[in-house]
Amino acid sequence: MLRALSGGIISTFIFFTFSSFITGGSPAAQKLRTIVIDPGHGGLYPGTRGLISTEKEVTLEISLKLGEAIKTNFPDTRVVFTRTTDACVDNATNLHDDLHGRAQIANQAKGDLFISIHCNSTRQPAGGYYEKRVIGHKKKLMYVGKGSRKRKKWVNAPVYESYWVKNTRVGTETYIWKADRNTKKGDAINERDESGEDITDSSEEAFDLSSPEARMRAQLYEKKYFDNSALFASMVEESFASAGRQSYGVKQRDVGIQVLQATGMPSVLIEVGFLSNKEEEEYLNSNKGQGEVVQDIIDALERYKNQLEGGVSSTPALPEDSIRK
Ligand SMILES: [Zn+2]
Repeated sequence: MLRALSGGIISTFIFFTFSSFITGGSPAAQKLRTIVIDPGHGGLYPGTRGLISTEKEVTLEISLKLGEAIKTNFPDTRVVFTRTTDACVDNATNLHDDLHGRAQIANQAKGDLFISIHCNSTRQPAGGYYEKRVIGHKKKLMYVGKGSRKRKKWVNAPVYESYWVKNTRVGTETYIWKADRNTKKGDAINERDESGEDITDSSEEAFDLSSPEARMRAQLYEKKYFDNSALFASMVEESFASAGRQSYGVKQRDVGIQVLQATGMPSVLIEVGFLSNKEEEEYLNSNKGQGEVVQDIIDALERYKNQLEGGVSSTPALPEDSIRK
């Protein structure tokens, strides 16, 4: 669930060297060396609640299985988790530090792809809820008026019936950051030092983000990362859809996805299903369901990796206006 993620702005330090701008990290050199998996919520923050589970539990189980599957399917790819236990990242005591910690882990790992796993919910109670409806009217004697004007009157009073409304919404959706919210992404890109070398030589000239070189470099990557995020996100949703899940497609959002903006790499947030629907919650808690969700993401990763590393243009087939807002 995204709502719980909002609030807290992730500040970043800008730190990269001119030499890495000139020589390092051409956007053309694309390899999927490191994938960062981010199990949503954790510790103090349970996320959304279903009837039998909380979001933080389900996202952790699916994330750990996804990590194992990546190691099996892509042995050359390194997997880094933002958390592997039910705890806030670095035992943070507030959401800001927790989200900042996640972005920092991803950036320090020099991730090539950031996958945040979440579960969805509607605003209604998990499972279902009672509502009232009018099923008829009956004559009812009532007093109207006040004091000496008070008199009896027959009125037509509605008759109500309670009925159960099942929480039926099911399905998946994948978020990417909004293209016009790229400034923070640019900061994160520069923070990450795309050259892949540690910046330890103090004799190297450090640049701040206001320099034209830094902005130019960041813009190049922003475009590439946005394209790759959209490409992978669309592949994930295609994969869910072809496996028979209801897919709500790829969506852009500017609220509640600070963690995506603060990572200097292509980043997606996958809502793997609704905990507010009884059957989907059971599916997401089952071995079978978790295995299928993981396999769907692996299928998408395989296509993404092939396209990225196979020399095929990574410009997404997905036209901009097909991305649902
Ligand atoms: Zn969530």
